[in-house]
Amino acid sequence: RAKREGPGRVLVYEPYMHAEALDHLSLRGDLQRALRDGEFRLQYQPLIRLADGKPAGVEALIRWHSPTRGFVSPVDFIPVAEEFGLIVEIGQWVLEKSAKQVAKWRRDFPELGLNVNVSGHQLVHPRFADNVMRALAMAGLPSSAVTLELTESVLVSEPDLGKSALGVLRELGVQLSIDDFGTGYSSLAYLRELPVDELKIDRAFIARAELTAEDLALVRTIVELAQILGLRVVAEGIENAAQLAALRGLGCGYGQGFHLCRPADPADIPARLAGTQGESPVGVLDHRS
Ligand code: C2E
Ligand code: MG
Ligand code: MG
Ligand code: MG
Repeated sequence: RAKREGPGRVLVYEPYMHAEALDHLSLRGDLQRALRDGEFRLQYQPLIRLADGKPAGVEALIRWHSPTRGFVSPVDFIPVAEEFGLIVEIGQWVLEKSAKQVAKWRRDFPELGLNVNVSGHQLVHPRFADNVMRALAMAGLPSSAVTLELTESVLVSEPDLGKSALGVLRELGVQLSIDDFGTGYSSLAYLRELPVDELKIDRAFIARAELTAEDLALVRTIVELAQILGLRVVAEGIENAAQLAALRGLGCGYGQGFHLCRPADPADIPARLAGTQGESPVGVLDHRS
């Protein structure tokens, strides 16, 4: 990729960029093929209610095992999919697939919710609200079971469009979450205006070997903010019992993290939800003092 240097947009090519640009283009082709050939999969990670250790929902997380590249992290391919306009189709696949899956699980776990990550490029698509509702209708999943996760940067960069598409979805009963909260730029005033139901505290504040007094103060502030605004609060990245205990102590409502349950293949999820096998979410109760 050529770098745009300053307002004059002088293109500066370095030899290494040539290889980078080529790889970038081939990644685009690989992503198109992945969509066409069905190379994407979903894993799910439970969201746990911290008061009693019960699963409240699952977050869908996309996975790509490329036949040529091996495992590619969504952190690496989602931005490229966004850049090349593939994210709308990929995102729709994620919505449809996860909605069907959760509709099935709800036969045994009727209260189970679904969290889906949504890119800003999907949000600004003129048919975004229609696309979401169509996926839910096809799956027979009620809109009230679904929470869309958006990052602060998306909400801030597209305030008006965002507000209108989000407003429509909210009217239709879909819930909205701000993912990676605390790392972006949303102001308090903005938070009050947005039709938001949930804040997910970024794991940068939580997944630390030793939670400092400062970390705790920041998390406490976010938890209190959520309470004042009447929002659900989810702590991401809970990796050990000490972090879990600290979050419980602060009255944080929900949590997610390797300590509670790692993202898992769909076949393994019912056992995790029932807490009967393997890494059990209900096992968090064991860490209560
Ligand atoms: P995210 O939505 O904030 O998802 C949480 C990430 O943290 C996931 O990484 C999850 O596997 C990981 N995680 C969960 N618990 C822990 C923990 O205790 N410690 C640590 N260190 N990590 C934990 P993953 O699956 O690699 O996804 C990374 C990001 O990629 C996601 O961040 C999300 O922004 C994006 N993403 C994933 N799936 C999708 C998708 O279907 N659509 C879009 N647009 N973005 C997606
Ligand atoms: Mg997320
Ligand atoms: Mg997050
Ligand atoms: Mg993230």
